[in-house]
Amino acid sequence: MIKLVVLDVDGTLTDKNRLISTNAIKYIRNGVKKNVMFSLISGNVIPVMFALQTFVGINGPVFAENGGIMLYKDQIKKFFDKTKAEEFLEYISKKSSVKPVFTNVWRETSAAFNMNDSDEHYVSNEAKKHDLYIVNSKFTWHVMDKNQNKAYAVNYMKEQFKLNYNEILVVGDSDNDITMFNLSVNKACPANATDTIKNKSDYVSKHRYGNEIGDILNYYKIL
Ligand code: CA
Repeated sequence: MIKLVVLDVDGTLTDKNRLISTNAIKYIRNGVKKNVMFSLISGNVIPVMFALQTFVGINGPVFAENGGIMLYKDQIKKFFDKTKAEEFLEYISKKSSVKPVFTNVWRETSAAFNMNDSDEHYVSNEAKKHDLYIVNSKFTWHVMDKNQNKAYAVNYMKEQFKLNYNEILVVGDSDNDITMFNLSVNKACPANATDTIKNKSDYVSKHRYGNEIGDILNYYKIL
């Protein structure tokens, strides 16, 4: 029986332009009524996750910055530090096309940026040399601690709520979801997911951009 549903936000609850699916909101609220815990993990920042938690009606923890920081029951818990990521961003901005993005003013555990595709290999290697890594959420690039990822957040909730992996369902669509798709949890994705995520999924919905949520919750008999 699924007790915890962990959802990615961009591309999983939203479309390509980041407009949230009103169907997804409706189905999440139906799931909450069934006493299933819902959690969001995104590359976005805590103020945005606070808004989503409040206005969508998420009953579990919400994680920002790919799992680096959590908001639950009006308490913020920080798992990583941004000092090294910020220093790296300053360094690499001088050596490549890397440009920081404005949401960094709200970041506590990572830094975000845009860059030309041709710099990906170079910047990724430079990050590794600094014990950091970069990941692309399809909307922006993120640099953070090498242990900071969505699997870290899922494992934290598993311990905190004393769950087994088979009681957890994760839903995501792209590369920054891979770590949680490598856990022995239940995995599902929308039709717009990357091939890697589809291959790792137990269930691939025919629906996309948030409209898959009702289908997936029905498949796992949550609704
Ligand atoms: Ca996504």
